[in-house]
Amino acid sequence: MPKIKFAVLAGDYIGPEVMTEALRVLQHVAQQDGLTLEYTAADVGGAGIDNHGQALPESTLKVCAAADAILFGSVGGPKWEKLPPKEQPERAALLPLRKHFTLFANIRPGLLYRELTDASPLKNERIPNGIDIVCIRELTGGLYFGKPKETITLPDGDVQAVDTMVYRRSEIERITATAITAARARKNKLCSVDKANVLETSVLWRKTVTEYVAKHAPELALTHMYVDNAAMQLARDPNQFDVFVTENMFGDILSDEMAVICGSLGMLSSASLGAGKNSLGLPFGLYEPAGGTAPDIAGKGIANPCAQILSVALMLRYSFGLEKTAARIEAAVKKAVTGGNRTGDIAFGKPSVGTKAMTDAIIAAL
Ligand code: NAD
Repeated sequence: MPKIKFAVLAGDYIGPEVMTEALRVLQHVAQQDGLTLEYTAADVGGAGIDNHGQALPESTLKVCAAADAILFGSVGGPKWEKLPPKEQPERAALLPLRKHFTLFANIRPGLLYRELTDASPLKNERIPNGIDIVCIRELTGGLYFGKPKETITLPDGDVQAVDTMVYRRSEIERITATAITAARARKNKLCSVDKANVLETSVLWRKTVTEYVAKHAPELALTHMYVDNAAMQLARDPNQFDVFVTENMFGDILSDEMAVICGSLGMLSSASLGAGKNSLGLPFGLYEPAGGTAPDIAGKGIANPCAQILSVALMLRYSFGLEKTAARIEAAVKKAVTGGNRTGDIAFGKPSVGTKAMTDAIIAAL
């Protein structure tokens, strides 16, 4: 019986609400597919601060380190807003977690079902069949981590700030390898996004991606696009991309643009894969919804659980190699939603269901 050993870090506000539902779905598929679940819950974010005085307590890190993957909810909210920026739950929990486990590859599906095109700010005729693309963002390099990173007062009294964009070839190669795997699982199409007309790091990026794909995946149709054009093309015709891969800051911006054209944050999941392997020899990863803790709707039982449930599917696919079970969960979410079960964020004024009823519909579809 395959063992699914993972850490559950539900976090704050709607985090625990949608996590409960995701675990319910997982228990259901585990029973159907003969999987053994072994999971440990631990505090993170505001819950970590309240219960242990730290957003990422040592005990939580230990639970994560002993697991094969982390299923993450979301952290933060008004309760902790007055803390200094460095102690804010998101910054003090999520960033150190990424760093600790070298989670360098962020995989974000941009998915909008045809039946939900009204949720997108794009005109329906631009996305007659919805949206189905994947963004792969490098997560531990580039401008956000490069040194020097400082603000100094110059001899003439002026003040100067500097951030450094830096990439090694090996960092570009490993994210390219992730992108190749994702592209192979779909349409064998990969677009690499850079700014090679201006930036040295992008020149290296383009050269490295080109050479790596030629050597390891010559069957892929590889294209390159400048990031400013990519931002426009995403809004003009998103489905011209299938899988696109890009560096950290470009990916930060483009993945948010992708989220907005896909309608509700409540439907979008993400995976952050680590450099290290888990006990099964597969990537250790952190799986979470794209949205935050939604304090405005927390405690009302109306949050959309789909993003958290789809994160479970990603976890089973990437960290446990259970493609069939992952695809079954994805199909069940699609069936439940397109069959008319909608939480408020995707109901467009029509009657909506609550968090639990939405999950019940997904379980029924399974
Ligand atoms: P948010 O994503 O929490 O909410 C933005 C909007 O989307 C809200 O109207 C919310 O109701 C809606 N929404 C989000 N998820 C939803 C769901 N599952 N179902 C239905 N509607 C949903 O963003 P925000 O309001 O800017 O941030 C709130 C808190 O979350 C902040 O403290 C922020 O720092 C934190 N945050 C955490 C993460 C994370 O843990 N990864 C990510 C983003 C924001």
